[in-house]
Amino acid sequence: MNTLDKSRVLVIGLDGGTLDLIGPWGRQGHLPAFAHLINKGASGPLRSTIPTISPAAWTSFMTGKNPGKHGVFDFIRRRPDSYQLEYVQTDLSSMGTMFRWLSQQGRRVGVIGVPMTYPPEPINGFMVAGSWAPENECCAYPSELAQFLWEQGYTINNAMAYTPDTARAFAQYVEEVTEVRASVALELLRREPWDLFMAAFRDVDTLQAFYWHDMDPAHPFHTPERAERFGDVILDHHRQLDRFVSQMLDEVGDDATVVVMSDHGGGPLYHEIFINNWLLEKRLLALKRRSDVGDLYRKTLRRLGINRSTVIKLLGWPLANRLKRIFPSWVEHMVPWPHTGLIDQIDWSRTKAYSFGSIGQIYINVRGREPQGIVEPGQEYEEVVAHIVEELGKLADPETGTPISPRVFRREEIYWGPYADKGPDLNVVFGNMSCISHITLDAVQDRVLAPPADYETGTHRMDGMVVMRGPHVQRGAVPQSAQIIDLAPTILYLMGEPIPTDMDGRVLTEMLIPDFVSAHPIRWADRDVPGISISGWTLEEEARMVQHLKGLGYLG
Ligand SMILES: [Zn+2]
Repeated sequence: MNTLDKSRVLVIGLDGGTLDLIGPWGRQGHLPAFAHLINKGASGPLRSTIPTISPAAWTSFMTGKNPGKHGVFDFIRRRPDSYQLEYVQTDLSSMGTMFRWLSQQGRRVGVIGVPMTYPPEPINGFMVAGSWAPENECCAYPSELAQFLWEQGYTINNAMAYTPDTARAFAQYVEEVTEVRASVALELLRREPWDLFMAAFRDVDTLQAFYWHDMDPAHPFHTPERAERFGDVILDHHRQLDRFVSQMLDEVGDDATVVVMSDHGGGPLYHEIFINNWLLEKRLLALKRRSDVGDLYRKTLRRLGINRSTVIKLLGWPLANRLKRIFPSWVEHMVPWPHTGLIDQIDWSRTKAYSFGSIGQIYINVRGREPQGIVEPGQEYEEVVAHIVEELGKLADPETGTPISPRVFRREEIYWGPYADKGPDLNVVFGNMSCISHITLDAVQDRVLAPPADYETGTHRMDGMVVMRGPHVQRGAVPQSAQIIDLAPTILYLMGEPIPTDMDGRVLTEMLIPDFVSAHPIRWADRDVPGISISGWTLEEEARMVQHLKGLGYLG
């Protein structure tokens, strides 16, 4: 294994990056650095997690584990013993990431901008938290690094919201913050020693959400006027990232392996589905008495035209921004207040199934598991699931009659591990994700399907991307059914390190040179990445221990 001792890997993460766009744009000459990597390396689709949403996908990327082992399924989760929802905060310290594992092997690791990394891990190197982290001095490890970030004007979250009125300014804003992120990443790449360096960028996904229809003449919201002004916003952002990738390639030379990956893909959004309304129609969900205050509340909201963007307008951006810092995902992904109130309107004693989450999650109200569960595990559970699956198959676009073609993934098919029972009973992918669920009940009480709200015209796709180039990568190879959980084992293997047995992914050997693979057997460690919480250490204690070990020369 000596030849691999010094092997270095550079990972560039693009939230929402897809070869559906980057491939053709590369071939057309718009993205020379991406095209170079694709031409000289191996590339193909990378299957994301289910649900296909950033928190679950990025956490699976870092840990090499399915969500049943790390417990992050979405931005929100149901509180134990309650139907109230709460914001998911990750605790990397108890999860065991490849970054920690490499640190413990004495390798140097630098990570900037990967979502779900707050608080950052005390690793043998540095970590700057990514999206949805609060912007404080704790967002970087070591914390002295935060000062450097603020001096550079670095921001973790976008401090501006998209609206049609601010479409030009928003694109400009994203360009500016991306420039700062890229230059900070480059500076850290140059000045810090590293064996694994990773920089992740969030705004491919952001811009695809709001400007997809401008570049896509087939999108129902496409207009020539907007296309003229904003049709190149997504391409221009990729061009900007391409320049950054080019600079990174110049820095690392040919001996490092370069990986470009995304947490999921991107594509057009045509509909939102209000799953709880559908469950209500199918008498699988019941509300408390019709005359209740919730109905009145919803009607009032609808009459006043209140939605997330009007909320932001009403509150004013500074206050909305403060909310965003406290509950970042809430402001980004849902109307910030009626959420829990509407949950309160459900009559649980007559409800067999309910939904919350951002893609198409359905939960069965199981006796003994849910606080007021009514569905018996076993035969009744199976009957309810079968009924839902059958009824979902009949769903069609009300205007065109086109079937929505849902694909249903049952919990036991896709999750295993200690948190598997916390995941949705059913994950439904509607129309290849051109239709996604709208968070829980909504003011639009009388509809199941509606055009997308909140100006979103693009959303995720299950297939993200992986591009790999390096001395051990087989040029032109295509990954076979590669999944996001495969990247951590593959990166560890390329760095000559053993792979923790508890990782679920596999090494993507089909992307590597066969002679290299046969000369370097995959080594599995006989243990998992130990988490700090298992040993009862606080992050500060762990940080002091890392410093201590460094001082003693145990860690490089
Ligand atoms: Zn994402």
